[in-house]
Amino acid sequence: MLRLEDVRLTKGSFRLEADFELAPGRRAAVIGPSGGGKSTLLSVIAGFDAPEDGRIWCDGRDVTPLGPDRRPVAMLFQDNNLFPHLDIETNVALGLEPVARPSKVARERAREALARVDLADQAGKKPAALSGGQQSRVALARLLLTARPVVLLDEPYAALGPALRRDMWDLVVELLPDATILMVTHDPEEAARSASQIIFVEEGRVRAPRETGQFFEAPDEAVARYLR
Ligand code: ADP
Ligand code: MG
Repeated sequence: MLRLEDVRLTKGSFRLEADFELAPGRRAAVIGPSGGGKSTLLSVIAGFDAPEDGRIWCDGRDVTPLGPDRRPVAMLFQDNNLFPHLDIETNVALGLEPVARPSKVARERAREALARVDLADQAGKKPAALSGGQQSRVALARLLLTARPVVLLDEPYAALGPALRRDMWDLVVELLPDATILMVTHDPEEAARSASQIIFVEEGRVRAPRETGQFFEAPDEAVARYLR
């Protein structure tokens, strides 16, 4: 269970307010106008931004005082965060052991994860030798090894074409069946397809998650304005 309890954060003149919970294993899409606070919301959950007020709970544990590396949370960004000078296998192994020289065991697990994203034959290459879609799959393999129960995706596939983007979301769903996932997307169709719940964020106000069907069939005025 992920719970944000009366969370408030101010960044300059921007104010974020969130108070909601998400049951374990649910996939929620985070949608809303640009600048509304979607990235800030994820950043607060991941621990990159500290709220002035409120608490964040993961599975009954208050994680508010914990830094990002100590939270049971993994986050994926659009740039994939791959190290250009390290080969693919090492990049993935870092998900298990964030050290300069990952162990043999970590490398073995990295190769297994690479096989699951269909990149076993690319393990020795550097990230630059791979296509954008392949790099996204490397980042997903690394995410698998971090094995965090909460996964935050901040439009990681925005730079990919529509077909590839759909394949990536399908792969995320397939490979992380038990994770609690918050995925930011600007594509309502993608949200409807991949998520069971929708969290609407506008002008810093984070709405509680609604069932996907209900969200699109009976939108309130602000949502209807956004979807138009
Ligand atoms: P979204 O991801 O929905 O597009 P963001 O969370 O990135 O929205 O941004 C929310 C608001 O916070 C925006 O109005 C943005 O201008 C503001 N903002 C983001 N980062 C900072 C910062 N470091 N200082 C001041 N304002 C910021
Ligand atoms: Mg954003």
